[in-house]
Amino acid sequence: MSAPESQTTISPHTQHPLVTRTYPSQSALNNVIERSEVAQKQWARVPLKERIAIATKFMDEFKAMGEEISLELTVQMGRPVSQVPGEVRGTLDRAAYMLSIAESSLADVSLADTDKPGFRRYIKRAPMGVVLVIAPWNYPYLTSINSVLPALVAGNSVILKPSPQTPLTAERFALAWSRAGLPQDLLQVAHLSPELAAFAVTHPKVDFVSFTGSVVGGKAVAQAAAGAGFKGVGLELGGKDPAYVRADAQLDYTAAELVDGAMFNSGQSCCAVERIYVHESIYEPFVAKFVELVKGYKLGDPTLPGTNLGPVVSVASAEKIRKQVADAVKAGAKALIPEDLFATAQPGTAYVAPQVLVDVDHSMDVMMEETFGPVIGIMKVSSDEEAVTLMNDSPYGLTASVWTDAAAHPESEAAFLRITDELFTGTVFLNRCDALDPALAWTGVKDSGRGVSLSKFGYDQLTRAKSVHMKIKTT
Ligand code: NAD
Repeated sequence: MSAPESQTTISPHTQHPLVTRTYPSQSALNNVIERSEVAQKQWARVPLKERIAIATKFMDEFKAMGEEISLELTVQMGRPVSQVPGEVRGTLDRAAYMLSIAESSLADVSLADTDKPGFRRYIKRAPMGVVLVIAPWNYPYLTSINSVLPALVAGNSVILKPSPQTPLTAERFALAWSRAGLPQDLLQVAHLSPELAAFAVTHPKVDFVSFTGSVVGGKAVAQAAAGAGFKGVGLELGGKDPAYVRADAQLDYTAAELVDGAMFNSGQSCCAVERIYVHESIYEPFVAKFVELVKGYKLGDPTLPGTNLGPVVSVASAEKIRKQVADAVKAGAKALIPEDLFATAQPGTAYVAPQVLVDVDHSMDVMMEETFGPVIGIMKVSSDEEAVTLMNDSPYGLTASVWTDAAAHPESEAAFLRITDELFTGTVFLNRCDALDPALAWTGVKDSGRGVSLSKFGYDQLTRAKSVHMKIKTT
C-alpha cells in the first residue's frame, strides 16, 4: 500500500469532511528542517528581551483571534462552543507566566570566584536547536503553548506538527506569531503522515522532540528517536487519574467538582478524573449527588450555545468507549444513568451518553485503561491505606486528587500530605482536579510520560547546560 498523500479532518458532530491538507514530499520536509536550522542560528543571537517582546506581542495577536478560534475549534474536535473560551484564556495565562519567569529561568548561573581566584565560571542555558513539537487534538492550543513559547523564547526554532483532527489550530497559532513579528522559518507548521513524522523525528538536524499524545504514539516516537542518536524526547502522555473522597469531604462541592472533572470536554482531557474512590461513610450520598448532576447534562450539537456535553472526537472513539462500558457491565458493573435519558447517543455516531458505573473493580478495563470519554467508575473504600493502594494500582501516573476538609480539620491536611508522599503521580491535588497551574511542573510518571513542561523546569527541558570555564590569570 502506498503512503497517504493527504489528510482529511472529519467533523465529529456532522461526520462531514471539514478540511484537507496535502502532505509535503520528503525532500520538501527536509527543506523545512534545514530552513529551521538556519533560522535558529540567527535567532539565538537575538537578545532575550527582544525574543520576549515578540512573544508578548504574540499574546495580543492570539487574544484578538479569540472569537474566530471558538467555532473553528468546535467544528474540528467537537467541544461545545461555550467551553472553548477557557482554552484561549488558559493559553494566555500559561504564556504570561512563562514570559514572567523567562529572564530568571534563562539567566546564566554564575559561580563565586572566592574559592578559585583568577577564574571566572558560569553555566549558560543554551538552546537545543530545532525543536519538533507533536501536538494532540484534545487541547491543541494549551498543549502547544507549553512547548512552543518556551522553546522560541529560549532561542530554539520550532516545527509544529498538529493532529490531523485539528490542523487549523497550528496554522492559526503560526499566524499569530507571524503577526507578532516572529522572523520567518522560526515556527513552521508541518502536516505529516506517520511516515513523514518518523522522518522528522529521526532527522539529524532535529535536536529535540516534544510529544504530547497517547502512550502508543509516545512509545513509537521514543523508539524512533532512540534509533537516531541521543536526541532528547519529552513525553506528555495519557492518564487514568484517580480521586479519593475522604469521609469529611464537603459533599456538594466535591461532587460538583468531580462531575466537572470527569465530564468536561466529554472526559477527553489527559488529566480528566476517570476513577473515584469514596469513603464508605459517605459513599451512598456521594453517588446519589453525582448521578443527579450527571443526569442534568445537555448532550448535543456542540455549535449550539446551550450544549454542555458534545460528541467525542470520532465514531471509532465512541465505539471504544461504549465497548468499555458494556464489558464492565457484562463483568458485573452497574450503570446508573438510563440510556434513554440521552437519546442523541446512538451507535454509529460520535455521541456518547455520560455514564456512572458502580460495583466496578480493577479487573475491568474501565478502571485500568484510559477511557477518554464521559464515563466514571466509583468504588467504596474503608481507609486512606486502601485508597492509596487502589490509586497507585495503575499503569499511569499523571495526577491524583484528594478531597478532604482541610480548612475545618488540621488533621485532614496532615493526612493529605501523608497520602501525597505515598502517591506515585506527577501532581497531587487537594480539593481540585483537571487543572494546570503554569507555575508548577507538568509531568507524569510510569506510562504518563517523561520530562517536564511549564514552570522553571519547562525551560530546563528546552535548553542545555553549557559551562564556561575561564582562567583569567595565567601567570
Ligand atoms: P495520538 O498519540 O494519537 O496523537 C498525538 C499526536 O502525535 C498527533 O499529532 C499524531 O498525529 C501524532 N502521532 C501519533 N503517532 C505518531 C507516531 N508514531 N509518530 C509521530 N507522530 C505520531 O494522541 P491524540 O489522540 O491526539 O491525543 C489524545 C492523547 O493525548 C490522550 O491519551 C491524552 O491523555 C494525551 N494527552 C496528554 C497530555 C499531557 O499533558 N500529558 C495532554 C493532552 C493529551
